[in-house]
Amino acid sequence: MRKRGALAALLAALLLLLLAPMALADDSTTLTAVRNEYIRVLIDMPNGSTMRSHRVESGEMAPGLSLRAEGEGLGLFGTPNTLGNWSVTVRCTTDDGELLLTIHQYIIASSAPPAVGIAPTAAPAEAAGSMAEPEQEMTAEPQPTPPPAATPVPTLAPTPEPTLAPTPEGRPVIRKEPSGETVTRGGTAIFVARADGAAEIVWYLLDNSGEAEMPAQQATEFFSGLRIYGQGTETLTVSGIPSGLNGWRAECRFIGPTGTVAVSDDAVITVREKGISSPGLIFDPQKVELYTGESVTLSVSALPPEGATVRYQWYSTDKYDLASVKAIEGATDTSFTPPFIPGTLYYCVGVRSVRTSNGEESSTAYSDLAEIRCIEGERTHEHVFSSYWLADGVSHWHGCDCGQRQDEGEHEIDWTVIRRATSRRDGERRGVCRVCGYEARETIAAGAAERTDTARIVLAVLAGLVILLILMGIILLSRRSRRRRRSRRPRSRTYHSTHTPRR
Ligand SMILES: [Zn+2]
Ligand SMILES: [Zn+2]
Repeated sequence: MRKRGALAALLAALLLLLLAPMALADDSTTLTAVRNEYIRVLIDMPNGSTMRSHRVESGEMAPGLSLRAEGEGLGLFGTPNTLGNWSVTVRCTTDDGELLLTIHQYIIASSAPPAVGIAPTAAPAEAAGSMAEPEQEMTAEPQPTPPPAATPVPTLAPTPEPTLAPTPEGRPVIRKEPSGETVTRGGTAIFVARADGAAEIVWYLLDNSGEAEMPAQQATEFFSGLRIYGQGTETLTVSGIPSGLNGWRAECRFIGPTGTVAVSDDAVITVREKGISSPGLIFDPQKVELYTGESVTLSVSALPPEGATVRYQWYSTDKYDLASVKAIEGATDTSFTPPFIPGTLYYCVGVRSVRTSNGEESSTAYSDLAEIRCIEGERTHEHVFSSYWLADGVSHWHGCDCGQRQDEGEHEIDWTVIRRATSRRDGERRGVCRVCGYEARETIAAGAAERTDTARIVLAVLAGLVILLILMGIILLSRRSRRRRRSRRPRSRTYHSTHTPRR
C-alpha cells in the first residue's frame, strides 16, 4: 500500500515537472547610447518574471548612466558623457529565482539617422490653442498689437497680427489629405499630406478611444516593434503595426510662419486580424558617404510567421520620402549593394510573408530609408576604427567617426523565448550575439505558436493517460498478489504459532 502511494507521488511529480516553467538562466543585454544624449531604457527580467530587488555584483556603469528598479525590471537612464564600453553585472532577485544580469554599455560618438526635421512638441500644442477659436479668426479685424512673448516659429515677414488671433492668410492651405490604410498585422501604413505655406509639419496619432493624441513618434512607447519614420515631412510611415493600433488615426498639422495651424482630415489605420501577418523586420538605416572605389552593403533581417517564407524587395528614391520609392529590378535578396551613382540616393527594403501552403501574401512591411551619398574623387581622411564593437539591428563592426566600417559581420544570435505567443496575444523572444553581445528583441506574432501550444497540451494528456495505465496496472498486480498471499495464509499461520511472533 505505502509502495503504491510513493509511486503515485513520483508520477505526479513527473507530471508537474513536465508542465513546470523553465528555470531562470543568467542573462546579458547590450545597449548602445550616444554620448551627451539622454536615454532611458527598461530592461525586463527573462520569462516575464517580476524583479523584487537588485544589487550590483561587479563591473561599473558608463559615467553619467544610473540604474534603478523600474516597472517589473530595471531602468537604466541618464546622459552618458564618456566614449567607450562598460559592463556591469547585477544580481536580480525575481519571483522565479535569482539571476545574474550583465549589461554591456557602448557609448558612441553619434548615431547617423537620416536627416529628418523633428518639430519641437511645444509648437503644435500652442498652435492647437489657436485652433479653438476659428470663428474669431474669420471675423477678427486686423489690429496692430504687440507680438506675444513666445512665437513658435520665427516670423520671416512680420505682420501686425498677434499669433493668437491668426489671419486666414497666415494659415497653410491643405492640398492633399491623407487617406486611410488597411494592413495585415506587422505591416506598414504610409500617409501623405501636402499644404502650401507650411513652415513646419507635425504628424499626430490619435488613439482608438478618442482620448489620447500624441506626436506620432511617441506611440512607439506603447507598442513594441512599432516604428515611425518621416515625422516632420509630408510622408509619415508607420511600420510594424500591431493589432492594438487598429482604429488609430493619423493626422497632419501644418504650421504656418505666423503659428497658425491647418489640420488635415484623420486617416484611419485598419489592421486585418485575419490572414498571414507581415514579417518582423530589422534594418537600421545608415547615412553613408562613399568616395570613388568604395561601397556599402545594406542588409535586413526579417522573421516570418510560422509556416511562411519572406519575399524581399529593395527600393530607391532621390528624396527622403517613402511614398516616392521605386522597386529596384532584381534586388530581391536579404542584402543589397547600391551602385556608385554620384549624388545622394535613398534606399529601403520591403518584406512580405508568403504562406508556404497556399501562397497567401501579407501586406508589405517597409524599413526606413538609408541615405547614401556618392562623391567622385579620392577619400583623403585616415580612418581610425573603434577598439570596441559597434552594432545595429543586423550586424556588428569596428567603426570610424566618418561612418566607415571594418570587420563587419552579421550577428550570430542565440535566441531565448521570453513570452510565448498565444492565439490572441503576441509573444516575445530575446537573443544575444555571440560575437559582440548585441541584444535583440522580437515580437512573435500572435497565433504563430498555436501549434506548439496544442502540442504541449496533447503531450500532457498523453502523459496523464500513461500514468493512469501504470497506476491501474499496479492496482491490478497488487490485488492479484494479495489474493495469492491470502491462499497461502493457513500455512504461514501454523509457522507463526510455533515461534514467538515479533509483532
Ligand atoms: Zn574614417
Ligand atoms: Zn553581433
